[in-house]
Amino acid sequence: MAFLVITGFLFFLWFISLFKVLLLPRIPFAKHFTHNGRAFRKRNVLLVIAHPDDESMFFTPTINFLTSKGHNVQILCLSIGDADGKGKIRKQELFQACVALKVPMQQVKILNHPDLQDGFGKVWNHSLLAKIIEKEITNCCIDMIITFDKYGVSGHCNHRDVHYGVTKLLHDTLQRDIEVWELVSTNILRKYSGPVDIWLSIFLAMLHSNGTMQCLVNVDSRRSFIAMAQHSSQWVWFRKLFVALSSYTYMNTLRKAEIQRIIQTVGTLDKKTSYCGGYGMCVLIVTHYNYTLL
Ligand SMILES: [Zn+2]
Repeated sequence: MAFLVITGFLFFLWFISLFKVLLLPRIPFAKHFTHNGRAFRKRNVLLVIAHPDDESMFFTPTINFLTSKGHNVQILCLSIGDADGKGKIRKQELFQACVALKVPMQQVKILNHPDLQDGFGKVWNHSLLAKIIEKEITNCCIDMIITFDKYGVSGHCNHRDVHYGVTKLLHDTLQRDIEVWELVSTNILRKYSGPVDIWLSIFLAMLHSNGTMQCLVNVDSRRSFIAMAQHSSQWVWFRKLFVALSSYTYMNTLRKAEIQRIIQTVGTLDKKTSYCGGYGMCVLIVTHYNYTLL
């Protein structure tokens, strides 16, 4: 009986939360994110990811929010995801996913650099990443970067290196007028709570009244499934389950990178770089299932 009550409550909570997500097309405090005072300011946003499918699995709420508001979204994918030898296929799949996400194909750049290959234990040089990203910023007049935070949602060392590459760039060019926002990694309970995480995400964003944390609700959650389905080579049962259960399908919490924190982070970059390989092995062994999913 108790089991039935708990199960019933969880289903109720799930559907109430889903209802909230569907009814919340406008996000509290979103004005701070893309508006300059009360005026609309069209932003040139660069989404920096590590692999084809990162955009669909993790960043769809952000992309949908930005495109629905008329902002210009560019995607820089730093590898073709060739860990399983499917790089060429995955590259095409990313272009198809971007069509579903309403990001023009000419605004999607996918690199296949010999020193930036997909894989666990493959450490990406932060200076090289910073240089590549800086070039993209200059070429496309970017004024906002969105990327992973230091944990990288799944803990993949390529995701983490992308974060440190962006951090290094920001540290080295402190005078530039570029905003950097990081996708906040949540604990495993929140990560697999689907739409239920909306309550806590909104509450945490409200605590940051200065607008340095934003909760962006997916204006069309179905698009996460449609976009991810374009990645046919990756669209296996456990990723379908992931997209259904993941809170990243329904919302993204973004945190604004602060200069002071970046200076402290870059001060420990060398230590973190050497740690990355060891960390990767640790995650592979201890949370193998979680890692396989993502
Ligand atoms: Zn990835």
